[in-house]
Formats: sequence, structure tokens, C-alpha cells
Amino acid sequence: MLTERLKNTIKDYPDFPKKGIVFKDLTPVLLDPELFNDLIVKMSDNPIFKEADALVGIDARGFIFSSAIAQIVKKPLILARKKNKLPGKLIEKEYGLEYGNDSLGIQKSSISGLDKFVIVDDLLATGGTAQCIYDLLDSQDKKVIGMSVVVELSFLKAVDQLNFNVYPVLKF
Ligand code: AMP
Repeated sequence: MLTERLKNTIKDYPDFPKKGIVFKDLTPVLLDPELFNDLIVKMSDNPIFKEADALVGIDARGFIFSSAIAQIVKKPLILARKKNKLPGKLIEKEYGLEYGNDSLGIQKSSISGLDKFVIVDDLLATGGTAQCIYDLLDSQDKKVIGMSVVVELSFLKAVDQLNFNVYPVLKF
């Protein structure tokens, strides 16, 4: 089973990047092309992508999965990037992370003419990142219709705070 193979491959790093956080390292998945492929096929199989005008990939690990999915579902990919990475006119917002604060921005021109978005990231923890993207898009009268992630840390109950569906392949 895909979920079992992922569970056996994703590695836990306790107290990284700070004490009390158990970091789920997904990079070993990328070392196994067959597993990586099966994961992308599974994520792309979600009918939510048919309804979407575009995907929003989150800096940086979200780019790995969103770019692969965008190729399969044949939808445009928008990059939500950390500070000072994107040129041009941006919409930007600060957000709280499981282990700190950061800010994300999207190029204003990249979402012009698009209405419905699916967020793609490697992992959902507190949901602060996802909420930040929701707020950014909402400020421009755009809709988030769902979020696709490899892993949901369900004990953090982020889904209770988000007003769109989250589709994880694996929950812890
Ligand atoms: P959050 O905003 O709390 O949902 O955090 C989600 C983002 O932070 C994702 O982009 C993850 O890459 C990263 N992240 C947060 N917590 C962890 C964790 N325990 N293990 C791995 N990545 C994490």
C-alpha cells in the first residue's frame, strides 16, 4: 500500500528545527523514483484539480509536488514564495509557522483571470501557511477550493480552522 510505503520511508527528526518539533523528512521519498511517481499519480487523481483554474505551490518543498502534479493535471502553477524572491507587483502576507514566523507573496499578474485555486504543499501542520495563502487570495476575491498535501499532522487539528477541504495522502 502507498500509505505504508510512505510511512516506512518518511523519516522523523525529533527536536528539529527546534525543541519539541518532530520534523517529518520527506526527502527519502524523492530518492525512490517509483514511490515518488506513485505518490504524484495518487495526488493528481483527486477530482478537485478538474474544478481548479490553477495550483498554488508553496515555497519550497511544496514546489516539488505541485510542479509534478501541474504537469499531469495540466493546470497552471502559481508560486507562493518567501520574502525577496519574486519580482514585480506582489500581494504579500506574514504568517505563523509551527516553528516561527515567515511571509509569503504571490505575483499579482500570475493570478489575473483565474478564480479557483488548489493549494499544494508537502505537509499540513498548524495550517498557518495554508491560511496565509487563503487570506492572500481572498483579499483579491479569489477562491481556495481545496488543499492537497502528502502529510497531515492531524493531531494539530488544522482542518478545524480552515474553510476548505484538505486532501492528505497520509495522516499522523
Ligand atoms: P503550518 O503552517 O504549521 O501548517 O506548517 C506547514 C509548513 O511548514 C509546510 O510547508 C511544511 O513544510 C513545514 N512544516 C511544519 N511542521 C513540520 C514538521 N513537523 N515536519 C516537516 N515540515 C513541517
